Amino acid sequence: MNLDTAFIAQMTTIIAFAVGVSVLLASMKYPSYIRRSLLSFAYGKFLVGAGFLVAATRGGMMPELMAALANGLAIAGLSLNYVCARQVQEKAVPRHFALACGTAVGVGAFLLLLGGPSDLSRVRLLSSVAAILLLLLIAAELLLFYRGRGVAHYLSGGMTLVVAGAFIARIGAALGQPAVPLDQMVNDGTERLVFILAFLSTAAGAINFVLLASDEFNKELTKLAHTDGLTGVLNRRRFFEVAETEFQRARRHDRPLTLLIIDIDRFKTINDQAGHPFGDRVIQAVADCCARQLRPGDTIGRLGGEEFAILLPDAGPDVGWDVAERLRAAIEREVTPLGDGLGLRITGSVGGVAMDASHGTFSDLFAQSDAALYMAKNDGRNRVRFAEPVGPLPVTA
Ligand code: GH3
Ligand code: MG
Ligand code: MG
Repeated sequence: MNLDTAFIAQMTTIIAFAVGVSVLLASMKYPSYIRRSLLSFAYGKFLVGAGFLVAATRGGMMPELMAALANGLAIAGLSLNYVCARQVQEKAVPRHFALACGTAVGVGAFLLLLGGPSDLSRVRLLSSVAAILLLLLIAAELLLFYRGRGVAHYLSGGMTLVVAGAFIARIGAALGQPAVPLDQMVNDGTERLVFILAFLSTAAGAINFVLLASDEFNKELTKLAHTDGLTGVLNRRRFFEVAETEFQRARRHDRPLTLLIIDIDRFKTINDQAGHPFGDRVIQAVADCCARQLRPGDTIGRLGGEEFAILLPDAGPDVGWDVAERLRAAIEREVTPLGDGLGLRITGSVGGVAMDASHGTFSDLFAQSDAALYMAKNDGRNRVRFAEPVGPLPVTA
C-alpha cells in the first residue's frame, strides 16, 4: 500500500466528511447547548475534510492560494474542537473564534508565500505553531478545566497531546528540510506521521466526543430527575434519598443532624385571593430565600405544594433552632413584601427535630418534625417549634 501524504489526505477527507455527517444527524435529538456543540464538532470535521481535500488535489493550480486555503481551512476546523469542548460545558466561546484562527493562518500563509522564496517550509512552520497552540488549549480544557472528567475526556485530552507532539516534530522537520516546491505535497516521514495522526484522531476523536456529549446529556437528565421544576431545589424523591444517606452517616459517625419542615401559612388564602400564578411566585420566592440562608453541606427539597424540608448535617438542637428562626425571619423580611399591595401577609411556620437515640430511621425524624410543624401552626403560625429531645445518642462500638 502506498501510504504517501496525498493518499492519507484523501482518506482523511473521506473520514472527516463521514464523521461530520454522522455527528450532524446525531445532534438533532440533544438539548440545545449539546446540539450546538455537536454541530460545531461536525462543522469542524467538514472544514478539516475540505482542507485535506484542497491539499490533496491542488496540483499546480494557483499554488500560493491553494496552499494557504488548505492550511486556513484545516486550522479553522481544528479550532472548532476547542469551541465544541467549551460549548458542551455551557462555557462562553470567543466570538468568531474559528473564523479568526482560520483567516489568520490562511492569510499569513499566503503572505509568506508571496513575500518569500517559493517553498512550503515556512507555511508548514506557521500552521504547525498555530496547531500546537490550539491543541494545547484543547488539551488544557479537557484535562484540567473540565468539571466531572471521565475516561472519554482523558482519552481525548491524551490523544490531543500526542498530536501536538507530532506537530512539534513537524516544526523540526520544517526547519531542517530543503526547500519544498509549492506544487507538491511534502512527503517525508514526519509529514506522514502528522497526517496519519490527523486521520486517526478524526475517527477516534469523534467516538470520544460523542461519548463526552452523551455523558453531558446523562448529567442533564439526572439533574432534571432530581430537581423540582418550579423552584429548582431537590424534588421530594431525591430529598428523601439524600436524607437517608445523611441519616445513616450521622448515626455511623455519631454526628448531630437536624431536620426542618417549613410550610407557608394560610397558603390557600394566598392562592384564592391573588391567584395560582402569584401562589407559584410565592413558593419560588420562599425556596430562593431559604436556599440563600443555608451553608454548602445543607440540603433543601420541596416536599410538595408549599412545603419544604431542610436537612442540616452537623447541627444539633441549638444550631438547628437558630437556623430555623433565621429562615422564619428571612421569609417574613424578604417574601412578605410580595403580598404588600394585595393585603396579604406571607409567612411560614417551621417544625424541627434534632436526631437523638429515639430515631431509628429517617422516617422517625420526619414524623417528629411534621408533628412539631403542627405545633407551630396550632400555636399561631409564623413561629418555630421543635420536637422534645428524648435522650443522648447511644455510644456506638
Ligand atoms: P396552613 O397555614 O395551615 O398551612 O394553611 P394552608 O392554607 O397553607 O393549608 P395547606 O397547607 O393545606 O394548603 C396548601 C395549598 O397549597 C393547597 C393547594 O391548593 C396549594 N398548592 C399545592 N401545590 C401548589 C402549587 O404548586 N402552586 C400553587 N400556587 N398552589 C399549590
Ligand atoms: Mg401545607
Ligand atoms: Mg400551608
